[in-house]
Amino acid sequence: MAADNDKTSTMLDTSQIYTGNAFTNVDFDRLGRQVGFVSIPHSPHSDAWGVTQVPIAVIANGKGPTVVIEGGNHGDEYEGPIAIGELARDLDPGLIQGRLILMPANNVHAVLAALRTSPVDGLNFNRVWPGDVMGTITEQIAAYVSQRIFPMADAFLDLHSGGSSLDILPSAIIEPTDDPDLHRRSVAAVKAFDAPYNVVISNLGDKRTATATACAAGLVTVGTEMRGGGTVSLDALAICRRGVRNVLAHLGVIEGETKSDTERPVLELAGPPAYVYAPIEGVFEPFHANGETVSAGQPAGRIHRIWDLTAQPLTLHYGIDGIVYGRRHPGRVSPGNCCVVVASPYGKHT
Ligand code: CA
Repeated sequence: MAADNDKTSTMLDTSQIYTGNAFTNVDFDRLGRQVGFVSIPHSPHSDAWGVTQVPIAVIANGKGPTVVIEGGNHGDEYEGPIAIGELARDLDPGLIQGRLILMPANNVHAVLAALRTSPVDGLNFNRVWPGDVMGTITEQIAAYVSQRIFPMADAFLDLHSGGSSLDILPSAIIEPTDDPDLHRRSVAAVKAFDAPYNVVISNLGDKRTATATACAAGLVTVGTEMRGGGTVSLDALAICRRGVRNVLAHLGVIEGETKSDTERPVLELAGPPAYVYAPIEGVFEPFHANGETVSAGQPAGRIHRIWDLTAQPLTLHYGIDGIVYGRRHPGRVSPGNCCVVVASPYGKHT
């Protein structure tokens, strides 16, 4: 009995009926291609009776799984939204089996402002899940997706990049779950993406994310990190375009070879030692490029206080063995900023 209660407490209640007041001009049960909006009443100073419009496309045909593909969870990450837009416009509905729900700009106010977080309520869309129909606009959008969209879905792809503050190795991401069968199916879908790296990322255990919520709802879940720096990376965009189609082929939605690369090792960000944080203000000089092999205790870089000729640079050190997975993009750092992240073989340190 106790075990049942424990399990229930970690599961998203997908039987909960959406009670918010969003409305949409797409019909989730109609076949073919539809493009429209999820509209959520939103009443700022400049628009008393307006709505926040979240773009959505539905492409459905035949019989098959429902796959939700999200982009623009953060508004300064571009490879995923570009790939989703191309699918929405170019995919022939007659060539799919199942249903695609395509949402390229879910954190729409942040997307329009090209910011990570929403300029309306200051919230990080990926730290408010499963959302709240009685909350701010960012929380209301998350609640719509978790309560209205996820119960229709079998699989969820959440296409991130590093954003303005990070540059990350292009990779497909595994969200941790306690459900071994779901873990196995998500790992297979992540490997099918065929990115250069497959990485387990728990966000230091934070469950307020879209992918953690999708896992709790029992969806096969695939994330990505596609470089970053607030720009569009040519190689990452090609990997993302191909990877999304590879996963759709793996799930049986479109025709295609399945690319499941079982040889490629799975990596993870193994908790706090994976992260090198700045303890002081300054300019961070990294010592290694992304992809280089490093070890615990080795100097990772140093922080220069360039305005103070009497100050020696402060050397920072890696906390774990692995490869440099991501680095801070801007040179300027403040206390607590993440300077470097190291990925290790999955299961070696945890
Ligand atoms: Ca992101």
